[in-house]
Amino acid sequence: MSVAQIVTILGSIPLFSMRTFLPAFLAAIFLTYPEYFPGMGDIAPASEGAFITRDWVLIVLGILSILEIIGDKSADIRNLVKNAEIYLKPLIFLVINLSLLDEASVEVLEEMQWAAFDLKWILLGFGILMVHWLATLRRNFITFLEDIDEDDNFYIGRISSWMEDSLVLFGFFLLIWAGIVMLVVYGLAIAVFIFMQKRYDRKLEQQKIQCPSCGKKNLPFAVECYHCKTTQPNIHKIGIFGQRKRALVEDVRQHQLKLLSHRKCPSCGSKLESTEIHQQCNTCGNNIFQSPEVKDFLKYQDQKFYKIGGLSFFVGFIPVVGFVISAVMANVYLFSPYRRYLPKGTSFLTKIWIKFLTFIFFILGVALGFIAAPLYIVMRYIIWKRKFVGQTKNENLPNIG
Ligand SMILES: [Zn+2]
Ligand SMILES: [Zn+2]
Repeated sequence: MSVAQIVTILGSIPLFSMRTFLPAFLAAIFLTYPEYFPGMGDIAPASEGAFITRDWVLIVLGILSILEIIGDKSADIRNLVKNAEIYLKPLIFLVINLSLLDEASVEVLEEMQWAAFDLKWILLGFGILMVHWLATLRRNFITFLEDIDEDDNFYIGRISSWMEDSLVLFGFFLLIWAGIVMLVVYGLAIAVFIFMQKRYDRKLEQQKIQCPSCGKKNLPFAVECYHCKTTQPNIHKIGIFGQRKRALVEDVRQHQLKLLSHRKCPSCGSKLESTEIHQQCNTCGNNIFQSPEVKDFLKYQDQKFYKIGGLSFFVGFIPVVGFVISAVMANVYLFSPYRRYLPKGTSFLTKIWIKFLTFIFFILGVALGFIAAPLYIVMRYIIWKRKFVGQTKNENLPNIG
């Protein structure tokens, strides 16, 4: 086995942990047309009829890569495939590396000794495990990003997705032209990522507060201990990213409504896994929307709606920026709290309609933001509120029957 082959296998690990088809497509393109890559012209083209350089393989991989890039920009699609991906990625990693080894090193393989053969399989086995492990880390990170910005109001999901696309592309070219540099750079980046994640987990653990009655560790937002239900003496406020604020809660009722708007349990503060409105908290068994009730929540949302609607009129006098600020505020404070309780991906047409509305209003909002912004907020608020109320009735029906 040559050093170049070892570097190739190791270097493709971070690429395949980010994307499934894009690195495979890039590798296939490279093997089929090495002459188009500067400095690579003297590489012998892959043997005639090699699996990876066949036209249909190239086309299929190309289409899949484009679908992957587009699909990853949608929070719904990303969510849908993220659990299958952690198994698919190691598999594609193996298939591509096997064909890379075969095509690029026909001569080496012919003279291959058993010792070299062993090393190849050890390396590939290690690679498969690493891709699976890194892909799982990535999936957990995506879940974490979704918790912060579930509806992609701040474009966190989309920005991170574009960053990944460019990291795969950049990493691939770096691997071709400076393989060792690529290994060092990406290896360090992964190490930093893992370190940061460990530190974040530790910070979350440290933020938990011990219950004075039973000693169990509670989330800083918990109103009552999840274990013994004792009211907690120090309840921390929650920020718009779901983070802990230093300030302590004064109005518990208001705090509970705020937790509900983040789809967190109003008693123990845990994230609710299901989107159902009437459900039981998995952590403490509290019945959600029993206290505070749905009508309290609607009233709480309506109050925010009047405030932000009024504010958007004044902010709308600032050209362009005014409309954008109003739209983001409305998404975060008014629409998302309802949307979090609605099943995802059910209303594709509604989504397109809303995108269209947003676009029209944005055009209008460039000059007449003080009219467009409040109008946009009123229309969309009514739509989401009506959907939410409809959902509460939907859920109640089976109980009656
Ligand atoms: Zn307790
Ligand atoms: Zn709970």
